[in-house]
Amino acid sequence: MTDKLEMADAQWREKLTPEQYHVLREGGTERAFTGKYDKNKQTGEYLCAACGQRLFDSADKYDSGSGWPSFTAPAEDDVVEQNRDVSMGMVRTEVVCSKCEGHLGHVFPDGPGENGLRYCINSAALDFEPEDGAA
Ligand SMILES: [Zn+2]
Repeated sequence: MTDKLEMADAQWREKLTPEQYHVLREGGTERAFTGKYDKNKQTGEYLCAACGQRLFDSADKYDSGSGWPSFTAPAEDDVVEQNRDVSMGMVRTEVVCSKCEGHLGHVFPDGPGENGLRYCINSAALDFEPEDGAA
């Protein structure tokens, strides 16, 4: 269902802010408690900041206290892909957007929901669309 979106590096640099580029294209991590959606409790959808694919719903967001937006599940099973990440001297599971392969964050096995997962996502990788924000 998801067609890959491929763009040259120079195009990404043009489209994204330096912070978004660092997170999405270089696998960076924003500092804890600095992201604009960490404390966001509005109802709505979280989209990929790079390609606009719908990634997460506010219904699955919870306050993990980690300092990053945290979700128990993606909006649909196939909107994110997972990769083994052995950087920083740790073994983690990286979460990327299935459409543009932008780095979103990591998934950890300590979530509060039935599946026991915590999707720890950078605000910089997301755009938020409030449910009744439309004019
Ligand atoms: Zn994307």
